Amino acid sequence: MDIVADSAVGLEALRGAVREVLVAGDPGYDEARAVWNAMIDRRPLAIVRCRSTADVVAAVTFAREHGLPVSVRGGGHNVAGHAVADGAVTVDLSQMNAVRVDAERSRAFVQGGATWAAVDRATQAFGLATPGGLISDTGVGGLTLSGGIGWLRSRHGLAIDNLVSAQVVTADGRVVRAHATANEDLFWALRGGGGNFGVVTEFEFALHRVGPTVMFAAPILPIEAGAGPIRAWRDFLADKHSDVGSLIEFSTVPESPDYPEAAWGRRVYTVAALYAGDPDEGEALLRPLLELGEPIVDFTGKMAYRDVQQLFDAVIPFGKHRCYWKSRYLNGLDDEVIDLIVAGNERPPSPNTLSSIWNFGGATAAVDAAATAFGDRSMPWMVSIDSIWDTPDQDDANIAWTRAFWQRLEPYSDRGRIYLNFAGHGEDNDELTRRTFGPNYERLAEIKRRYDPTNLFRFNQNIRPGS
Ligand SMILES: Cc1cc2nc3c(=O)[nH]c(=O)nc-3n(C[C@H](O)[C@H](O)[C@H](O)COP(=O)(O)OP(=O)(O)OC[C@H]3O[C@@H](n4cnc5c(N)ncnc54)[C@H](O)[C@@H]3O)c2cc1C
Repeated sequence: MDIVADSAVGLEALRGAVREVLVAGDPGYDEARAVWNAMIDRRPLAIVRCRSTADVVAAVTFAREHGLPVSVRGGGHNVAGHAVADGAVTVDLSQMNAVRVDAERSRAFVQGGATWAAVDRATQAFGLATPGGLISDTGVGGLTLSGGIGWLRSRHGLAIDNLVSAQVVTADGRVVRAHATANEDLFWALRGGGGNFGVVTEFEFALHRVGPTVMFAAPILPIEAGAGPIRAWRDFLADKHSDVGSLIEFSTVPESPDYPEAAWGRRVYTVAALYAGDPDEGEALLRPLLELGEPIVDFTGKMAYRDVQQLFDAVIPFGKHRCYWKSRYLNGLDDEVIDLIVAGNERPPSPNTLSSIWNFGGATAAVDAAATAFGDRSMPWMVSIDSIWDTPDQDDANIAWTRAFWQRLEPYSDRGRIYLNFAGHGEDNDELTRRTFGPNYERLAEIKRRYDPTNLFRFNQNIRPGS
């Protein structure tokens, strides 16, 4: 079959069936194919800017009938650039960004292309929130479908643990609702299995009372302070994983008036922690974190939850940098691994590079491994290495450095499992996906076979349809 000729004919029909289609040469095509990672330069055959579930059905049906693969764009933040693919039909959900809150039932109904900024804005108007990520322009879609790890994980779990239902357009063009008592297998698979099973046009989340003011600790120590304060942070958290979502974030001080000029360009780490209960209680609870060392600057304080959710936005803006991120769940955080992480962060090839250690436990760990596709929750810590640089000539050095650092952490890793939203550029996809899902993989492959037997949705942490 001549796919290009066939689809060229069909494109006219597609244009008639949906509100907006962009192809190469159309004004707006290049903006629409751009994603968060500036390394990604892919040219979809057609980008369908969906305004409704009906548009999504038309785009998926068109692609299937013409033998074309589908890529799905939520917030465009996937570092591997899965949102766009050469020659694919891109289901672009960026215009489907509405959020409706039912405060009486503590529920939010979130369209498939919404960002966390839209969710936080709508829910905080009622003093409510659901766990999202740390950066507000990340998409709800990709972040949720592979788990969703944010500040509220200690008290309220991952994003998927708060998913109540989802409306999904499946590969055969049906619109189905999945929840605990309808399409149960699909609902299970959506909670961690990524974008493999269809296009989610609406997420329904449970909401919790949060803020609007919360206590946030953020002293920033010079990297020369070494491993000592991080060991003390680890010990401090030992009995607080159910209350405090925390991370150590390595970075370089930017040339910004928010920081003392003498510190510009120095490598540092932030001891960041959120207490989502009463802010006065939080202030007392988090105080020991302010005494771990002599900070270069300290952003600790009671602040609006929405501000915390946007605090790191400026550090990594959309479409500006080239990126390669890897992660590992760690089976412990002994002194040796802390030393290794600190040493690794002293001189990355790019000063823009970030890296973090995240705590787990609490509500995240309380969910059984078989209860959601995400799998085992017993990992106590995670490390992510987020390499960020500016020009193509630095690509090889930064990727090689990241991979070498990541390999050095292997002996400390939790059975080689990783967080699938920080998975590099998808080069180890098959092996890492199988390892990470563990015993859940076979069930996922079987559900994939039922919902997407031809692997129409393949630009993701792909699960091949079971035989
Ligand atoms: C700056 C930055 C900060 C981040 N911070 C966090 C964080 O704090 N916590 C965390 O857990 N992760 C974080 N991530 C990782 C993030 O969760 C993933 O990159 C995720 O893929 C982003 O989702 P998206 O919708 O923006 O991505 P996109 O690139 O738009 O989509 C990625 C894939 O997700 C799937 N997808 C997206 N929307 C839908 C949908 N509605 N229906 C079906 N499939 C869909 C598709 O397979 C798509 O290819 C961060 C990433 C970046 C770049």
